This record gives sequence, structure tokens and C-alpha cells, in this order.
Amino acid sequence: LASREVKGEPSVIRISDTVAIGGPEIIVMAGPCSVESEEQIIETAKAVKAAGAQVLRGGAFKPRTSPYSFQGLEEEGLKLLAKAREVTGLPIVTEVVNPETADLVAEYADILQIGARNAQNFALLKKVGQLNRPVLLKRGMSMTIQEFLMSAEYVMSEGNQRVILCERGIRTFETATRNTLDLSAIPVLKQMTHLPVVADPSHGTGNYHYVAPMSLAAVAGGADGLMIEVHPDPERASSDGPQSLKPKKFDALMARLRLVAGAV
Ligand code: PEP
Ligand code: MN
Repeated sequence: LASREVKGEPSVIRISDTVAIGGPEIIVMAGPCSVESEEQIIETAKAVKAAGAQVLRGGAFKPRTSPYSFQGLEEEGLKLLAKAREVTGLPIVTEVVNPETADLVAEYADILQIGARNAQNFALLKKVGQLNRPVLLKRGMSMTIQEFLMSAEYVMSEGNQRVILCERGIRTFETATRNTLDLSAIPVLKQMTHLPVVADPSHGTGNYHYVAPMSLAAVAGGADGLMIEVHPDPERASSDGPQSLKPKKFDALMARLRLVAGAV
């Protein structure tokens, strides 16, 4: 169902009245890794909107590697995201970590994110395939492109055709970066599928220094959009501080992105 052979022209996925992904406009989804407080999410939402982002991201249910790490504000976090949407008008993307809480997350979210750790959680993929929300599907950290596309098929074969693919870096032997952002996956996926493709240079590199160059490279390489972590005070972030941009740096990146987007 995801194949170009089945559908020749690229899919444009409508997120809200004003936002669509897969069309001419590069869509930037920005915000903190985790929703931490009302003040934090509202301040970040206003900042990313002012910089030109079209979608607010924020984790309420967090799939942490360690059970002792911050697990997210859960429903309280979803409520704060809804409040930030009310204030800014930005649609929200947030992660769903298990089938049991998927309906709850779908009540609040405009886009359901499936994280790298759940990219082959087939019960979860089938569940979001039955929900009426676009799905941002992240590539698993050890997934081949073929396996990634099979995960998209799990969602689509349940009836939900609105799948956005996200390259977020894979495990390689290289340790200078948290993951290796597989930039070549972008043109490969664009050739193989009609689905929109976005890149996540925040998780792809794990280091805020590299987020701007990799964002520009991803857009130059044909990405339909980006997911970027932004935090007003990265040093104090509950998760992923080292890869989060401060609003000022994000704003500068958005200005450069417009130049690259206009040139490709
Ligand atoms: C996230 O978006 O904060 C996240 C946990 O991403 P990933 O699943 O790509 O690690
Ligand atoms: Mn994160």
C-alpha cells in the first residue's frame, strides 16, 4: 500500500485546515522532548510558532530506555499540549507507547507518533491503523528500509493511509553521534513510496551542534519536513537536553531553512 507502484503521485497528508505534509511546503514539527510544565510547553509553543514551525511536538508518554528515568506527565501532559494548541493554534504531535492508551492519546493529538522503540510493536501499529489520525512512524534504530516499510504496511493495512515516515538515525559502529542519521534513506524512501518523509536530526545526532547542519542537509536531500527538539532551558530538561535547541538557535535555523527550501 505504501509503494509507488500502487500509487504514482506523492501523498499529501492534511494535518489541519492550514497544515499539510507532502506538498510544496516544508513542515517543521518542533518542541520539547517531554512536556514538563504548563509554563514550559506554552513558552516553547509560542517560540516555535514565532520562528515559523507549523506543528508542536511534545512527549506526554515517554518510552525511556531506563525505567528509573522520567516517564512523562501522561494525561496531564496531553492536557497541557491541548492548552498550548489553544493558545497558539498549532496542531500537536505526541507519542503513543501502547495500545491501551492509544484512544486516550488520539483524543488530544492531531498526529500520533510511533517511536523508534515501538517501530515493530505490531499490536500498536495495528491499533493506530484503526484510528482516524495521521501517524508519524519513526524508523527503528536497527531497522532496514524494507522493515520500516513493512511497519508502515501494518498501519495502512488496517485502513489508515495517513502515514508519515520519519528517519531518526540508526545504530552504527560510530559513537561520535548518538545515532547515525541515514540521510540516504530520504531519497530512497521518496523513490520507493508515495508517503511523506521527514527527518529528525535531534535524535539522529543527539547533539545540538549538529542539528542545524543535518536539518539543512535533510531538506536539501528531499525531506518533506523535520522534527526538531526545542527547549527553553536545555540544561534543565527532563529528557534529551543535550540535543535540544534553545529558541534563539531554532529561530536562526528556520531562517536558513527557508533559504535551502527555496533553492531545492
Ligand atoms: C522522541 O521523539 O522524543 C523520541 C523518543 O524519539 P525516538 O523514538 O526517535 O527515539
Ligand atoms: Mn526526545
